[in-house]
Amino acid sequence: MLLKGSCHCQAVTFSVKSHHPYPFNRCYCSICRKTAGGGGYAINLGADSSTLRVSGEEHITIYRAVIDGEESTGERHFCQHCASALWVYDPEWPELIHPFASALDTPLPSPPKKTHMMLGSKAEWVEVNAPIQDKCFYAYPDESLAEWHQRLGLEQ
Ligand SMILES: [Zn+2]
Ligand SMILES: [Zn+2]
Repeated sequence: MLLKGSCHCQAVTFSVKSHHPYPFNRCYCSICRKTAGGGGYAINLGADSSTLRVSGEEHITIYRAVIDGEESTGERHFCQHCASALWVYDPEWPELIHPFASALDTPLPSPPKKTHMMLGSKAEWVEVNAPIQDKCFYAYPDESLAEWHQRLGLEQ
């Protein structure tokens, strides 16, 4: 499906095609929490980077987090005016792009099951609402965004 998104001040708008648009993957890591997840986690989707179209690209700034003393290859794109987190792009996986669900204006399908990842980095105050059908991981999950959609038969 075609996903359309924007930052809060509308300086940046974008569209991207996704076969994996279910917002099921909650990341509780400290980077997501501080930069994009005030409720304790952020949700990234998987999309096809070659289909990304951006208006207002000059308003975007990139943040690379330092993890264990090394700058991450993951580029967190955000609006330099309103600070909205837009997407993560990692040149090590150039065909993929990971828009934040929070930046999207297209109504997303509701995930029947969720994955909770990086729970080892969760803040004390964050309550994990994970019914029995959800998967929980201390660090990275055992399946990709694409594999989750395949397992549930939800590829678009
Ligand atoms: Zn903005
Ligand atoms: Zn994260």
